[in-house]
Amino acid sequence: MRSRSSKRKIVLATSNPGKLREIRHDLGDLPFAFLSLQDIGANENVEEKGKTFLENARLKSLAYSSLSEYPTLAEDSGLEVEHLGGAPGILSARFSGPGATDERNIQKLLRLMKGVPWADRKARFVCQLVLSRNGRIIKEYRGQVRGYIALEKSGNRGFGYDPVFYYGPFRKTFGQVPSEAKNAVSHRGRALHKMRRYLLRSLGSAEKRA
Ligand code: IMP
Repeated sequence: MRSRSSKRKIVLATSNPGKLREIRHDLGDLPFAFLSLQDIGANENVEEKGKTFLENARLKSLAYSSLSEYPTLAEDSGLEVEHLGGAPGILSARFSGPGATDERNIQKLLRLMKGVPWADRKARFVCQLVLSRNGRIIKEYRGQVRGYIALEKSGNRGFGYDPVFYYGPFRKTFGQVPSEAKNAVSHRGRALHKMRRYLLRSLGSAEKRA
């Protein structure tokens, strides 16, 4: 059996604790050692100046992958609300302006959606994953999940907009369900599932070559 130090390493290029928790939950059992940005001494933020989730995920993945020799997994994600023309979209984390917090973002969203009938409250979460190494892209996967913007907050699980994202099949918001239930259907869970299969395949072919 391999010792922990001989495991292949992957850098998780995000400092958002909610995202990190979900990525570790979905990939944590794979035979890789997951490093944080601190582990590779990366203390500068990459500016998210792209116009799409894909552009931003690529920017982060490529920039951080050039700081170490290891494959580097970055993600960009957010909420798109139909009635708001796709906002907050790539601005999801910064929706309520400077000093934005999850709570302020939610309050702004609920204010903008006040009085909007249920049928017009359609929304989706999108997650774009990009895996790179030495400044070159290796794999990209996307996941999404459709739901509705709830009339008010419910539940305090998850992070970000989870308490106001109502998922029809659960008849609950993502803030009301255990992380396993959310991860099984969420945008991030779906993208990570594809990445997981790729990582397992790449391990298999590396072992055949060895
Ligand atoms: P960024 O990808 O760091 O630009 O930020 C993504 C933002 O989108 C987060 O800060 C949340 O506000 C929101 N978001 C992304 N994924 C989720 C999720 O799974 N649940 C709730 N909010 C999310």
